[in-house]
Amino acid sequence: MSQPIDVDLDLIRKYDVPGPRYTSYPTAPHFRDDIESDQVLTAIRANNEQARPLSLYFHIPFCQTLCWYCGCTTVIGKNPSWTESYLQALEQEMRRKSQWLHDDRQVVQIHFGGGTPTYLEPKEIRRIGRSIEENFNLSENIEFSVEVDPRRVTREHVEALRDAGFNRASLGVQDNNPRVQEAVNRIQPFEMTERVAGWLREAQFRSLNIDLIYGLPHQTVKSFDKTLSEVLTLQPDRFAIYTYAHVPWIKPAQKLLEGDALPGPEQKLAMQKHIVERLTGEGYDYIGMDHYARRDDELARARRNGTLRRNFQGYSTAAGVDIYGFGMSSISQIEGLYLQNPKDHQGYLEAVQKEDFPIHRAYLLSEEDELRRRWIMSLMCHARLEFSEMSRVLGVDIADHLSEELAQLRSMEEDGLVEIDEQGITVTDRGRLLLRNICMPFDAYIESGEGRYSRTV
Ligand code: SF4
Repeated sequence: MSQPIDVDLDLIRKYDVPGPRYTSYPTAPHFRDDIESDQVLTAIRANNEQARPLSLYFHIPFCQTLCWYCGCTTVIGKNPSWTESYLQALEQEMRRKSQWLHDDRQVVQIHFGGGTPTYLEPKEIRRIGRSIEENFNLSENIEFSVEVDPRRVTREHVEALRDAGFNRASLGVQDNNPRVQEAVNRIQPFEMTERVAGWLREAQFRSLNIDLIYGLPHQTVKSFDKTLSEVLTLQPDRFAIYTYAHVPWIKPAQKLLEGDALPGPEQKLAMQKHIVERLTGEGYDYIGMDHYARRDDELARARRNGTLRRNFQGYSTAAGVDIYGFGMSSISQIEGLYLQNPKDHQGYLEAVQKEDFPIHRAYLLSEEDELRRRWIMSLMCHARLEFSEMSRVLGVDIADHLSEELAQLRSMEEDGLVEIDEQGITVTDRGRLLLRNICMPFDAYIESGEGRYSRTV
């Protein structure tokens, strides 16, 4: 049985500060624009000396209309010529990058995110599926997932996705309440979501994830609970329920949401408490950082077995995997290197004509970065940092190396978020709701203050 989690509101309130989400370490704002392409190519070459498993990420940036809360990298509007040039660029990028790969590398995961991947027409989806097959060696058990916007998908799209090899889908819902939907410029009656979920089940998609957001205008615990009850009838395997990240200094359209209707921190906290308690009570395991999965789902099993991993798409079951990104703004993550493609549409189209690995920003990890990444990811994924194991693997005395960080964690220990002993650090159930705060002392680049990160609650 899943263990329902009790949420202590006073504690969560105390730790509500701006902080990174640690989908990478160092986090993306620390990527640099002075990394030379030959440094990148040397790292790529070294990465292909072994046949490590691969994960591919494709960014399809187009959306017909903008949802006011959106924090993604998008191109908004309806222009059929965009997709043709973009598909050509993706095909070019696949041809160029695949030449660098060790012959025996197998792709075990593919994810299409956006934007709106289903902005593509069914024939375009089949075409990109064929290009992927031509360029890569796909594992038989591949996890092939796609973000689906129920407002922009037909039964033909779902059939095309299945024919192209997709077997997992994530439905963008956010909230079913018409008043909230109107306030955020995203009209999507629940019946529409229900219909698309039915098509995906008919097409034998193996896994269905629902994305929701709390902290949007007009939401209350009661209204959000109604949304939860409705989407639970779809029996999703997983949920990703994000707190709305209000960052108008990066996304100016979010200013449209400011005003009385936007829930304050207390209301958001109450919603967070309700979501955790309701879903864990309904048989979902809390995976960490906004993610929930049915107890028999691979993600929940990976958490229990200690094989959970974290990357730019959230939590993942694939260990020892490198990610190669395709499309504008996509991020590749390989041993010792992060690499981001150009973030603007035109810049991306031009760069893929010239370079095998176009660079907007990149980061080469130092030895110290590698250590800190390991500690942070261990806490994010396993809620545990084992000193002896880490000291042995890394060849340093961890307890000694971390004396300052451990001193910073003492107040969290007093608050019952972590337990520290000679063996290591264990995050408690209370602490699992505040993982980013627990990781922040290990982040050598953390900068306090508003304006850089969204708040942790
Ligand atoms: S559909 Fe998704 S990516 Fe597009 S604007 Fe809305 S939230 Fe952003």
